[in-house]
Amino acid sequence: MIRHKEETLPKRELKKLQFKRLKETVSRGYEVPYYRTKMKEHGITPDEIRTLDDIRTLPFMTKEDFRKAFPFGLLGVPIERVVRIHATSGTTGTPSTAFYTAQDIDTWTELIARNLTSIGVTAADRFQNTVSHGLFTGGMGYLQGAQRVGAMVIPFGGGMTLKQLEFMRDFKVTSFHAIPSFGLKMAETAKKEGISGELSLRIGMLGAENWSEGTRKKIEEGLQIDVYDNYGLTELVGPGVSCECPEKNGMHVWEDHFLFEVLDPETDELLGPNEDGEMVLTALTKEAFPCIRFRTGDLCSVLEGDICGCGRTHQRISRIKGRIDDGFIIRGVNIFPKQIEEVIMQFPEIGYNYYIKLWTKGVMDEITVYAETNNFNDTHARIALQRDITRALYETVRIRVNVELVEEDGIPRQEGKAKRLLDEREEK
Ligand SMILES: [Zn+2]
Repeated sequence: MIRHKEETLPKRELKKLQFKRLKETVSRGYEVPYYRTKMKEHGITPDEIRTLDDIRTLPFMTKEDFRKAFPFGLLGVPIERVVRIHATSGTTGTPSTAFYTAQDIDTWTELIARNLTSIGVTAADRFQNTVSHGLFTGGMGYLQGAQRVGAMVIPFGGGMTLKQLEFMRDFKVTSFHAIPSFGLKMAETAKKEGISGELSLRIGMLGAENWSEGTRKKIEEGLQIDVYDNYGLTELVGPGVSCECPEKNGMHVWEDHFLFEVLDPETDELLGPNEDGEMVLTALTKEAFPCIRFRTGDLCSVLEGDICGCGRTHQRISRIKGRIDDGFIIRGVNIFPKQIEEVIMQFPEIGYNYYIKLWTKGVMDEITVYAETNNFNDTHARIALQRDITRALYETVRIRVNVELVEEDGIPRQEGKAKRLLDEREEK
């Protein structure tokens, strides 16, 4: 289903709308001293933006800008107009703060309502949000958006997997929003507690972590539902930037509100279809602070094809393949954790939990994948499985990866975002 007529605008009209909004955004940005200084350093003024392509003359914004300007330096409206703030967790330093005017909250709410409509959530649905409703944008964002669609919303919050499932069962919940590792946990717990058959679930929206098609398959089969990916960042607005449609063939970027570029992270050259690069995003309708050419650090590619089977004209991008900085180099090979997950989750005997350990043996760096199997006690089958996974991993990453299979529940469960990579290598 389509929520807004802008989703099917002919490309030419969409570009016109983007240009008009880009001009307004750059002019608004120029009023913010922090951003004006950056533009002046680049020797550019807002009236030099004469075409959409001129965006490429503007300076980039980075996480570093958010850090330097913390807390109020990027604010573009009088503080009295701000009605809410959200922030990143700041686990790697100073958090990025996002300000919202009343208009920004309304736009954001509509965008999440658009995400949910895109995957088939309607006013007839009962929707449970399984993430925390604090500073994290996925909480309030999805609560508001689902309410705007008209669904009955249960703002359960994070954790307590079994309790969540019981709530879902008792209130006949049909749809939910979760981080992917929690989706896996739900599928696992529902199976273990034997309540899969008692649930009325049909749709799940997952986001905030990178996850593979193998994980999708496991959650879909475990809960007998369809699950979809969506993408967004606190610096832009939160979720509501890009979302899958029922075609499950890439994510549409909501181009009436965001302008995107996929760039070679080394040379900053614009890349063509199917070439992996860094996602750089500009918010076109945000009032409270400028976010222009934000370097997200996320890797993806533009997909080919102008119009999708769903009828939307907004460009599709691949699902996010990883972060530029979360790959690791081992024995000279650059590997992303998601490549490993993609391989191991294809094996039906592999359970819901895994992690990757990097360690040092003598002078060599080693990589070991620990994964749970439901067939641990059958030694013969276990050894065959171990051999098959080792071979499949070699075919993907081209180095030998040790595989350690453990019994179900053999890997300790974590709350919140799953930590899948443990680097215990010795400094050399
Ligand atoms: Zn589509």
